[in-house]
Amino acid sequence: MNPASFDPDDEQLDGLLASARELIIGSVDNRAGRPVRAPRTGEELVDELLADRPGDPVELDAAMTVIRDILATGTDNAAAGDLAYIPGSGLISSGIADLIAAATNRYTGLAGPNPAAVALEAGVLAWLTELFELPDGSQATLVSGGSIANMNALVAAREKHAPGAVQKATIYVGEHAHASVAKSARIVGVHPDHVRVCASLDGLRVDPEAVRVAVKDDVADGLIPMAVVAAAGTTNAGTVDPLVDLAGLCRDLGVWFHVDAAYGGFFQLTDRGRRRLRGIEQADSITLDPHKSLFLPFGTGALLVRDGDDLRRAFADHADYLRDMPSRAELPDFSDLTPELSREWRGLRLWLPLKLHGVEAFRAALDDKLDLAALAYRELDEASGVEVLHPPELSIVSFRVDGDDAAQDRALAEINRTGDVRLSSTVIGGQVMLRLAVLSHRTDEATVTTAVHRIRAVAGGQVQ
Ligand SMILES: *Cc1c(COP(=O)(O)O)cnc(C)c1O
Repeated sequence: MNPASFDPDDEQLDGLLASARELIIGSVDNRAGRPVRAPRTGEELVDELLADRPGDPVELDAAMTVIRDILATGTDNAAAGDLAYIPGSGLISSGIADLIAAATNRYTGLAGPNPAAVALEAGVLAWLTELFELPDGSQATLVSGGSIANMNALVAAREKHAPGAVQKATIYVGEHAHASVAKSARIVGVHPDHVRVCASLDGLRVDPEAVRVAVKDDVADGLIPMAVVAAAGTTNAGTVDPLVDLAGLCRDLGVWFHVDAAYGGFFQLTDRGRRRLRGIEQADSITLDPHKSLFLPFGTGALLVRDGDDLRRAFADHADYLRDMPSRAELPDFSDLTPELSREWRGLRLWLPLKLHGVEAFRAALDDKLDLAALAYRELDEASGVEVLHPPELSIVSFRVDGDDAAQDRALAEINRTGDVRLSSTVIGGQVMLRLAVLSHRTDEATVTTAVHRIRAVAGGQVQ
């Protein structure tokens, strides 16, 4: 590169693209067969990088070597064997879309400057609201992840039900609600003591009656019930709260009904998933994470809202310096719908993979994940020394091996030791549980079989 010129000539641009191409191809090549955890931990590299500061220009190769070295360490969430937490597999077609969006750098915070780019995104967003059968006037937005989607939903709920009175606002969650819900409540100003954790039906799903009683008590105490947050796919166990009952309850009580479907939402594409998520179409808002169950790279969450005006009330603002940016009425100004003003052409990262692979490919892949989780459940249910919590509602199987909590931790370390598969643990009902989450698009029957073999061997004491 000519350091004096920010704009490379053709040859320099070719050089940049060729290095990026080589690096990307190297990183996706044989990814399915790679270990989840690289053999190198990269401790020394971390020390070096912490001490590194930008200064005089370096050669392109030297810079690329640093990136390559980093990628040779750490955890590859995109490996087939990643069955921990909520795996994120990162479709390469979406990554390339991102590269294009960043390299072409079209502004999409308002529709005026790039109406066609915004229209492309609006088309994908309409597909999302239609998938969840939301009515005309509903509005989806793309954000960086499920946490921010949950936060934006609570801002909308606050502005509708408790404007100027957030100190009296309360929200209702189940014991397995994702931590980001309580965090969002805190950010939007809800007092931490006003986050009501309601009892469960079966230790796993929130009891609508418990929610009803809590809401009534709070109303009697002069508080303002602001939102009920249901989980459509808990992170702990992949279970779905009773959405139909909760939707009815929220309608009766006049409370905002938010469904956190960050993990489970896109199972709506499958017949089985749609049945399990029934009631989600009655939500006031829905959190989705395309970077989970749509296999996209990290950085893509979505919030769907039944009435787009609720988002505009929460986020639209007037700025004198934007007065000369008119646009067509049917195009959304994204800055009126989220806290952001400037933003990249985010829609491209959904549009390109959906166009190139087609919706049916995603449906089939998600259906396959449900089958694989059912397979893992059956195999583990038959294994001696393993107790499985319940048949999976979506694609997470929770289980224990014989022994106390410390035995679970030892078993997990042993299962994960070779790095070809990676599971994680949680606490359910006061007990440590191991969990196997099938969500990477690369996870297949061979992966699940490998994992089950390791679990059986560890549970049977054949591996010390
Ligand atoms: C992952 C997850 C979140 C948080 O989403 P991020 O994209 O990690 O911010 C929220 N809720 C549930 C149920 C999740 O699984």
